[in-house]
Amino acid sequence: MAQKRLVIGNWKMNLTASGCKALVEQCRGYAEELHRSELWIAPSYLSLAPAKEAAQHSPLKVGAQNVHWKEDGAFTGEVSIPMLRDVGVDFIIVGHSERRTLYGDTNETVGKRAHAVLEATIPCVLCIGEGIDARLAGSTHHVLREQLRSALLEEIDHNRGKLQKEHFENLIIAYEPVWAIGTGRSATVEQAEIVHRSIRLFVETGWNRDIASAMRILYGGSVTPQNIASILACDAIDGALVGGACLNLDSFATILSFAQVPRA
Ligand code: PEP
Repeated sequence: MAQKRLVIGNWKMNLTASGCKALVEQCRGYAEELHRSELWIAPSYLSLAPAKEAAQHSPLKVGAQNVHWKEDGAFTGEVSIPMLRDVGVDFIIVGHSERRTLYGDTNETVGKRAHAVLEATIPCVLCIGEGIDARLAGSTHHVLREQLRSALLEEIDHNRGKLQKEHFENLIIAYEPVWAIGTGRSATVEQAEIVHRSIRLFVETGWNRDIASAMRILYGGSVTPQNIASILACDAIDGALVGGACLNLDSFATILSFAQVPRA
């Protein structure tokens, strides 16, 4: 099974650049104490540079919440990979459900973003997840397969196709059911486990078992100090993507303390 567990805090559109400093300092302290897990944080674009500075010489990794797939051009309001590289980001999240549902990201554009990040050999956290309608209609697996197929297999604009083996060294998948994000209603461990196993099977079938078993698959969606122990106790789950609870230091410290428990 995969290496160290990974916990990522997604700060979303919270905290000013000056306000993020204290939280980075705290997270830096947590990251230094973690032995069995890694801690990554994703502040807003404007907080990336100060966060990187505050995280210097520590194991805490700092990444972006989104990116455009083109290097430059007439794309008002967008941020490119060279810009993020210049700031020194350690990873980039693509396909978060808030980008998909609120800002028009599609399987196709998420695929373009993921491919551009992986081509740049930057760790890419690819978020996938079904909405409540799909869950209730029993089409969860179909929706997730389409999201995976589009991001990992499909040729778009003749400029990309199936991911190469090397790309997987930098790929992390986050399963985040849309109905669980920010709702206080987490998926059950059984629901998450079934999906995580099917994601691994998708990769095993398309590439091979070694690649599939080395890949980290995180769960995200209303992770709290109350449910983190059972989530991390599941061997199919390699860590968590945490939204709301990562902004509260007490909650986040408790979540991270469970990430210290040895893997089964
Ligand atoms: C997220 O934004 O990725 C997330 C999982 O949010 P929350 O933990 O608040 O559900």
